[in-house]
Amino acid sequence: MKKIIAANWKMNKTISETKSFFHNFRNQSSLLAEGCEIIIFPPFTSIVEAVRECENTDIKIGAQNCYYESSGAFTGEISAEMIRDIGAEYVILGHSERRKYFCETDEIINKKIHKALKNSLKVIFCVGESFETRKNGKVNEWIERQIKNGLKGLSKENFKNIVIAYEPIWAIGTGKAINAESADEVVKFIKKYLADNFDSESVILYGGSVKSDNVREFMGLEDIGGLLVGGASLSAESFAEIIFASG
Ligand code: PEP
Repeated sequence: MKKIIAANWKMNKTISETKSFFHNFRNQSSLLAEGCEIIIFPPFTSIVEAVRECENTDIKIGAQNCYYESSGAFTGEISAEMIRDIGAEYVILGHSERRKYFCETDEIINKKIHKALKNSLKVIFCVGESFETRKNGKVNEWIERQIKNGLKGLSKENFKNIVIAYEPIWAIGTGKAINAESADEVVKFIKKYLADNFDSESVILYGGSVKSDNVREFMGLEDIGGLLVGGASLSAESFAEIIFASG
């Protein structure tokens, strides 16, 4: 199976910056290994442009969030139907920044996941512990709660469209990635939890301060199905370096 390299641009890039990214990326990536699936998550306002830029390529485009209702009086929200309508195929749900700054609970995330799947969006579902939780030796309990509640009610069939990203909160945007061995322990725990409790499996990504110089540590691990990259995906050059390094 192809490994996934996903780019979370967060709240970055205007339309013209998006165009210029793809212009540079095409130059960088003419020799890109066919071995991985590339998914880019621009802000909502750049999705249409990104979809256009990626026509006739294998690069997939996703949104960084969606709401759990289809339409109506929800000022400022964007539905899964709308995201599908503009050609995006994926959505990130459960990112720690959404949990922290927008008070998204496991229950809200669960509703969003159901809605996204109903609308044929594939979901990258993020889980991960704080530094405090890790210090207290409670990582597995924490992850178990996020998965149990976040993925509640999903069928075995649904799991074909779920990718889980393990992103320790303390590693996001800090330049301090987790060591590969510790990431592997959590990924193995998630795999076993899914098998025991949902009779299912899912591709599991690692995210948190991935750069070209630590890519190999993670991609070398059998159970890690790819990477979710934030800061280092904003420049076409550094994102292409990560892709090359992972090939
Ligand atoms: C992220 O926000 O999902 C992420 C992994 O960010 P960074 O790579 O910047 O740590």
